[in-house]
Amino acid sequence: MYPTRFFSLLAGLLFAGQAVADWHYDKQAIMGTEVHLQFWVDDDSRADEINRAVMDEFRRIDNQLSPYKERSELSRVNRIAGEGSGLQISAELAEIIDKSLWYSKKTGGAFDITFATVGSLYDFRKGQQADRKTTDALLPAVNYRHINLNKKARTLAFSDPRTKIDLGGIAKGYAVDRAVAILKRYGVHNASVSAGGDARLLGDKRGKPWLVGIRHPRDKSRNAAAIPLENTAISTSGDYERFFINDDQHRVHHIFNPATGRPAETDSSGDASDSDKLISVSIIGPEGFDTDPLSTSVFVLGKRKGLALIERLAGFEAIVIDANHRMFFSSGLQQ
Ligand code: ADP
Ligand code: MG
Repeated sequence: MYPTRFFSLLAGLLFAGQAVADWHYDKQAIMGTEVHLQFWVDDDSRADEINRAVMDEFRRIDNQLSPYKERSELSRVNRIAGEGSGLQISAELAEIIDKSLWYSKKTGGAFDITFATVGSLYDFRKGQQADRKTTDALLPAVNYRHINLNKKARTLAFSDPRTKIDLGGIAKGYAVDRAVAILKRYGVHNASVSAGGDARLLGDKRGKPWLVGIRHPRDKSRNAAAIPLENTAISTSGDYERFFINDDQHRVHHIFNPATGRPAETDSSGDASDSDKLISVSIIGPEGFDTDPLSTSVFVLGKRKGLALIERLAGFEAIVIDANHRMFFSSGLQQ
């Protein structure tokens, strides 16, 4: 029997100065969620540098877009844009708001970053929600049409002084795309990056597809499905991520119906049937910048209108779970 020290010495000699190819993993708490990173490096001496570049990008985006950081650009916008006289914003924020407005129009207002006008009064950890009177009073200020964005001049103003915005329905999808762009720049060909419910996959898992689990919306310990994917993005929105059960035994969760100013319960036509109401929505498509707002949108729209929207959009597929815990797929996934 050789002592283990001998083996480590031998390994040290064999690999000294030699590039080692291997998977590299990291997990950090950023953007109010867990960011997971896994990538294959041909030369593991570069792994730490690549890892740092990706996580720094998540932190940069969080520092710019977080509504909880007083010094973020988003917080500044919410303090000033309601004063009416256009405020100068970064090209990046202009691009994200522009994309959000595009989805507002595309979804008949189901996706609307001004939900924050009332949404910011909720605290899911403390179990706090806006009362009926406040919600109804603020409802006219919840409307993407109050956002006046001049994309060219990069100025922003809100036409209602009470309007506030939040990019929680699109920022993480944007961030995983940025992470993949960085990985590509470093020559990485196989990676998986996720921030909470938003994941982007670069290449495959070296010879096999990535297996992405869709959590069971009512049982943390198991997956409702595992989907084989490569070179794509997938975003999941559910009413189980951030929620509390209030005194009326209502599930108060973080996806708002802008038409009511309350957590989405029914589709926008008011159809409250359990077969139209969704509790989990996953959208698959090329980029997180689209799959993220789409998963939030389809959740708000409900099964019928939500799946119809995905059928109209080329390159996107959906996996949804209704309130009866039944799973449905868009036509491109049905075999
Ligand atoms: P997660 O944040 O868990 O990944 P989603 O992608 O479903 O979940 O996004 C939910 C977030 O989107 C909420 O926490 C909130 O910040 C924001 N949001 C909620 N309702 C809307 C809406 N109707 N339009 C745009 N953004 C929304
Ligand atoms: Mg989303």
